[in-house]
Amino acid sequence: MIDIDGSYGEGGGQILRSSLALSILTGTPVRIRNIRAGRRKPGLLRQHLTAVQAATQVCGARVHGDSIGSPEVVFDPGEVIGGAYEFDVGTAGSTTLVLQTILIPLMLADRPSRIVLDGGTHNPFAPPFDFLAKAYLPLVNRMGPSVRATLERPGFYPAGGGRIVVEIDPATSLRGFALCERGPLTRQHGRVIVANLPPSIGEREISVLNKQLGWESEAFELEIVTKCRGPGNIVTLSLEYEQVTEVFTGFGEVRRSAEAVATHAVQMCQRYLGQSAPVGEYLTDQLMLPMAVSGSGALRSTGLSGHSETHIELIRRFLRVSIDRHRNHDRSETLTFAEKTT
Ligand code: ATP
Repeated sequence: MIDIDGSYGEGGGQILRSSLALSILTGTPVRIRNIRAGRRKPGLLRQHLTAVQAATQVCGARVHGDSIGSPEVVFDPGEVIGGAYEFDVGTAGSTTLVLQTILIPLMLADRPSRIVLDGGTHNPFAPPFDFLAKAYLPLVNRMGPSVRATLERPGFYPAGGGRIVVEIDPATSLRGFALCERGPLTRQHGRVIVANLPPSIGEREISVLNKQLGWESEAFELEIVTKCRGPGNIVTLSLEYEQVTEVFTGFGEVRRSAEAVATHAVQMCQRYLGQSAPVGEYLTDQLMLPMAVSGSGALRSTGLSGHSETHIELIRRFLRVSIDRHRNHDRSETLTFAEKTT
């Protein structure tokens, strides 16, 4: 059994999710202690509990400590079984983070899967749906499996009520690849969603995007949503290159002006445009697991967050894979993944 201290590094939810994924993938039981000890409300919240339950179901695991507030989970995985699954976070907790726990195991399952996930779809501090669909999935699909995600309805904090559906055609193994250059820019796009709020919020955001980015006005799209629980607002900027798509997000919040939401997304987008590495901070964090599981490939990152450093250490506990880090002249970092032979 591998013993994981959940207070390591930032002491957040990713240590739990990746430990569960790696436990399933390697068939190794795991004990995760001090879960989310670095957070204001430690232990399992709804989103994390749903992730534990999802991990348990997809492989028929034996589990202890699967209750709200629990600081420790003991997880003994079984064989992964593809199929139809439904998971409901029950709050506005992130559906994409629940998916993060079970996606790679199901990409390597014995048969296809269809997963319905209810909860939040555009949460701060989590991958929003657009990031999942446009940035992350096209890259994991290059590794062999075919994964398609559909947003049935958006769900925002605090009301939730969103739904995503994910269909997975698995592969027998993952093929790593090198993602070290962006290639030519093929499209730039801005999408603003305004749900159960005055459309003028979205119009003000688009006006800021237009002014600050200088893209053609056809590059922007305003989507007014009325069939969703609760209010919500999101600004998404996508930069599509030949080799990679990056997605930057501004999240609307009570007492945050439309101008501030749009400006935040613009600043992140401009920072990326001022660099040359293809893989941004969040994508680095999330690509690391499938790349390490493939045991091959490389990615050039704009820079590693503390979160990513924790992730590397965690992966090393489970997989016989070397993750070599090389700092480049432009301060980007190249990570190279290789199976250990000794
Ligand atoms: P907590 O730490 O409170 O448990 P958590 O469960 O949300 O929160 P974290 O450990 O903070 O867990 O992990 C958040 C995940 O969301 C990481 O994989 C990170 O890459 C991703 N993420 C956060 N913000 C964004 C964003 N704007 N776009 C894409 N991905 C994001």
